[in-house]
Amino acid sequence: MALRILLNGAKGRMGRAIAGLAAEQDAVITAATDVGDDPAKSIAGCDVIIDFSSPQVTGALLELASAHRKPIVIGTTGHQPEAKAALLKSAARVPCVWAGNFSVGVNLLFALTRRAARVLGADYDAELTEMHHRFKKDAPSGTAERLLEIILEERRLGRDAVRHGRSGIVGERKPTEVGMHALRGGDVVGDHTVLFAGMGERLELTHKASDRAIFARGAVRAAHWVAAQPAGVYDMQDVLGLK
Ligand code: NAD
Repeated sequence: MALRILLNGAKGRMGRAIAGLAAEQDAVITAATDVGDDPAKSIAGCDVIIDFSSPQVTGALLELASAHRKPIVIGTTGHQPEAKAALLKSAARVPCVWAGNFSVGVNLLFALTRRAARVLGADYDAELTEMHHRFKKDAPSGTAERLLEIILEERRLGRDAVRHGRSGIVGERKPTEVGMHALRGGDVVGDHTVLFAGMGERLELTHKASDRAIFARGAVRAAHWVAAQPAGVYDMQDVLGLK
């Protein structure tokens, strides 16, 4: 039987993308809610909730999921760190996948970056580039920030190791630096490259997004997976078996 989804934020870009491809992933949207709707009215008939809406609604949605023992997939971003820490406690009462990026390719890039940083070690200089469309307001992207975190964790470096662009007489590159370069232009959906440069060779790991549907497909895949899990908070690395 197809997976029955309550989709919150259904009128948004992600909501519409998920509704458009649910059928091809053996899922059906049994309830589509947005601003002004009450998801409580339709929760009984779903197997799992998917939310791509606003950070303000996450708390109430988690309470509802918990009261009805429904698994939930949260794609909404923009939570303040303190607020998120509190929300994670109530999320743990149900099976919950919470991820800032549902792309399968990007999640594999996270895992490959960790492996490359570990295998190549500090002899290989790590630099990151990301490119996004001209309308993007923040830099670097959340995905680039996560890639940076992974490299810093593997190399046991602090945030002070990060060099955002270089200009002027900056001196020779220190082995402990991690370069971060944000490019902007056109309609680029999202490109990320992690580069490890050694003496005599370099390795580049690149992901290029050309369609926002990758996030929608990943979210429906996560919904299928989380419906069969015990209570706890998971991310896409769990869904894809990358941990
Ligand atoms: P959007 O603005 O196009 O859509 C958001 C929708 O949520 C709108 O229809 C809006 O009316 C609705 N909404 C707002 N408040 C609501 C509430 N209280 N109750 C119900 N519905 C409400 O945005 P989008 O591009 O679809 O993105 C939605 C969220 O998902 C954002 O936080 C975005 O950053 C995030 N996002 C995450 C990923 C990922 O892979 N995790 C990918 C893309 C977007």
